[in-house]
Amino acid sequence: MVYPIVKYGDPVLEREAADITEFDTPELHQLIADMFESMYAAKGVGLAATQIGISKKIAVIDCSNGEREAEKIVIINPKILKSEGRQTGEEGCLSIPGFREEVRRGKRVTVRAKNEKGEEFEMTGEDLLARAFLHETDHLYGKLYYTHISALKRDLMKRKIKKMQRAGEWG
Ligand SMILES: [Zn+2]
Repeated sequence: MVYPIVKYGDPVLEREAADITEFDTPELHQLIADMFESMYAAKGVGLAATQIGISKKIAVIDCSNGEREAEKIVIINPKILKSEGRQTGEEGCLSIPGFREEVRRGKRVTVRAKNEKGEEFEMTGEDLLARAFLHETDHLYGKLYYTHISALKRDLMKRKIKKMQRAGEWG
């Protein structure tokens, strides 16, 4: 099923999610399938469970937009082990629709996580994948990408969103 995406303002986005402790269950497999479906429907390259209102440490990523099966990645209880180099580029978030900001991130990032069977793995990604690892792992710790932009830009963004919320255009 396709879940609606939770938007900025919902407290679930700003608290740390719980670790996943049960693996290889029908519920977990269903959640992963639903998360991919919801991500593709929203045209994102990454989706954290908190963005569909589920406060658990799991995220899905696919930088190929559903083109290549091998690029479907599930990270459970992820931790960033290493972030090297720098990249600057525009970043957006499905939970903050209509906004994009320049965000500086590591260029080569190694994540340690578990797969759906509970097996630990490490994976290194560059460029967009590196950005996705950082962005989605941040989500699972209650952190949104605006924490990485200047206070001035962040305040402007929040003011615009408040205005839209008041006008009933945010949902
Ligand atoms: Zn996001």
